[in-house]
Amino acid sequence: MSVSGLPPYDDTNVFARILRGEIPCRKVFEDEWALAFHDINPQAPVHVLVIPKGRYCSFADFSATASEAEIAGFIRAVGRVARQLGLEAPGYRLLANAGPDSHQEVPHLHVHLFAGRRLGPMLAPAPDQPSR
Ligand code: AMP
Repeated sequence: MSVSGLPPYDDTNVFARILRGEIPCRKVFEDEWALAFHDINPQAPVHVLVIPKGRYCSFADFSATASEAEIAGFIRAVGRVARQLGLEAPGYRLLANAGPDSHQEVPHLHVHLFAGRRLGPMLAPAPDQPSR
């Protein structure tokens, strides 16, 4: 089941294929609930993606339909990856895109973890985008 307004989960998306082992990834962390791997097109010196193993499109979908164990497992994995990479002291940024306004490309819930330099303002300007 997914939340209303969202298309059904697409099992052909690239992260579903990574989870099935059909395409490789540069793994950072894996447990029962989550997989973390380096982004193929890094936007910072450290750019890691953390994904839940279940079939969820977004945080809205995940928070509404995942079990308590899946939610706890995924959130714990995000924190564990940050600690494992030694990022508590220098700092890092978490970001999760959802839907067209955010430019979400892959319709499987993922958290981006950016670090390794001063990360600048929270949102990049988008001057050529029409306001809504
Ligand atoms: P988003 O725009 O939030 O959906 O982010 C999707 C991210 O997945 C982008 O940063 C891509 O560079 C990344 N990505 C796409 N394909 C792969 C892949 N095969 N391995 C690792 N990262 C990928």
